[in-house]
Amino acid sequence: MNQNTGKMIQSFLNPKGIKKLIALTLIFGLLMGSNLLVYTMGGTKLAYVHGFYIPIIISGIIFSVPGGLITAFFASLLSGPIMPFDVALEIAQPSQSWMLRSLFFFLVGGLSGIGAKIVKAYLQDLENRLITDSVTQLLNSRGLIEEWHHNFIPKQGINPSLVILRIHELSSIEAILNPDEMDQLFNDVARVLKNVAKDLGVIATLEAGTFALLLHESKKVKEIIAKCRHELGNVFTINDIPVFVNIFYGIAKIHNMKESIIAFLHRGRIAADKAIRNNFEIASFEVEDETQLLRNAKIIHDLSTAISSTELELFYQPQIKLETGRVEKLEALVRWQHPELGMISPSEFIPLAEGTLLINPFTKWLLEQTLCQLAFWLEKGLDLRLSINFSMKNFHDSTIFDLIHKTLQKYKIPAQKLEIEVTETAFSANLQQVADVLHTVREMGVLVAIDDFGTGQASLHYLLKLPIDVIKIDQVFTRNMLKNSGAEAIVRSAILLGHELNLEVVAEGVQSEVELRKLKDLKCDYGQGFYLAEPMSANLVSPWLLKRE
Ligand code: C2E
Ligand code: MG
Ligand code: MG
Repeated sequence: MNQNTGKMIQSFLNPKGIKKLIALTLIFGLLMGSNLLVYTMGGTKLAYVHGFYIPIIISGIIFSVPGGLITAFFASLLSGPIMPFDVALEIAQPSQSWMLRSLFFFLVGGLSGIGAKIVKAYLQDLENRLITDSVTQLLNSRGLIEEWHHNFIPKQGINPSLVILRIHELSSIEAILNPDEMDQLFNDVARVLKNVAKDLGVIATLEAGTFALLLHESKKVKEIIAKCRHELGNVFTINDIPVFVNIFYGIAKIHNMKESIIAFLHRGRIAADKAIRNNFEIASFEVEDETQLLRNAKIIHDLSTAISSTELELFYQPQIKLETGRVEKLEALVRWQHPELGMISPSEFIPLAEGTLLINPFTKWLLEQTLCQLAFWLEKGLDLRLSINFSMKNFHDSTIFDLIHKTLQKYKIPAQKLEIEVTETAFSANLQQVADVLHTVREMGVLVAIDDFGTGQASLHYLLKLPIDVIKIDQVFTRNMLKNSGAEAIVRSAILLGHELNLEVVAEGVQSEVELRKLKDLKCDYGQGFYLAEPMSANLVSPWLLKRE
């Protein structure tokens, strides 16, 4: 057996080769079958001779033009002069007849080959489009998954790694560039990535501004990222506009090739998001990241049941008028006693709820519970104001204003007995929207308090623009005012500023007698903190209030 024969046999021993072998056998069988059929049915005088078109067309489709022509040649031979016109009468075919038929055989063989080629090219183009990103011409996520199955899983002994590159704050870049310029930016990034990592793995565009590098060897990850950072830089010049682009990298190592690529992509994204959150540029996926995500998912999943069950409870923390020592106000703080996860802080579950529509039923629950409780206290003759915490997301459902109004009416509570606290951090974005919301609240007669005053990094301009009744100095300043002159200056100035603007001032986080005295000296209106009273459940706070009265 010479080398060529060996190669040919080898080429037939893979799945594709086996399919070809089956097709060849089928075509051969059909040719022979047609030949036998024509002969046994009495020769070419009957239409059975058209049966030869079947193997010719099949051959053209599978083996293209050469295949169609070769089969046409054999069909011409078999149905040519050796095949009688009439077998019984032993009449031979007129030569024009078999020659003309052969011509048609060749025509059909060639045309079916050409037709099949066109259809195959069209299908290939469709498939390419399905796996390619239309802007960068890189693979898309579908293409990356296919690449993983075809070129990674079958390879032995490789140690692949995935890097997700994410352009941060795309929307602020979109505010500068038009859609064509955005495409140019993505293409520029794609070109650099191709240059850096082309031979080391596969590059894909997962969505606008998010790229994936699936590398064969995890050893090279750090080196490749360093190269990408160096080559990409932070400034891209698009149509003479220098644009600042912040790219973050998330690494997901692939330890078990049997896991799905979807899981690795998910981990890479988690790592990239972690990098963005911590402003670290590069972050690797850790198992704990997934644990936190699973916890978040569980919290969101269980929250809807918690709202309609007794797992959520409101605690109330008194705010004391420092001049008189009287409790005039209480702040409602939610608590969640989760059956499996234990006590979950509102700072953990409320931001999660805010990312979903669950914030709406939660807000309804909060209003109903707090106002029902307030009505009870007012009925008992306690002259109290109640403050509840809202984030701007609570106002996204526009029916909330109506609900506040109706619930106040339902419990016959004067609107000024309710105060809504909004944290200062909400004001850095879209001040006009915040102003519209707070004006609507104020028009109802409900009071507005700024929570965590001094921590929001917002310009104090909002004090002029927003209808505000109360500022609550954040506990970080109260806690530090005795040991840090800067914190003391902030507390002092906030009180002065509040009074100048005719606002009530509350100091949060009062934890000691000395702090309390200091706040009294500074003429702060109210104090709130563990030293004065810790948050208490409704059934503890009621007797506490009555006793104090
Ligand atoms: P916040 O509105 O600033 O509430 C004050 C937080 O400080 C409360 O934490 C309270 O328990 C705690 N605190 C009070 N006095 C002291 C003190 O002397 N020392 C210290 N270290 N802490 C003190 P909590 O209850 O864990 O609430 C955390 C945050 O969660 C709240 O901060 C508020 O922003 C949010 N939150 C609570 N309940 C709700 C709610 O019903 N809706 C919304 N949207 N947010 C809520
Ligand atoms: Mg508050
Ligand atoms: Mg606060």
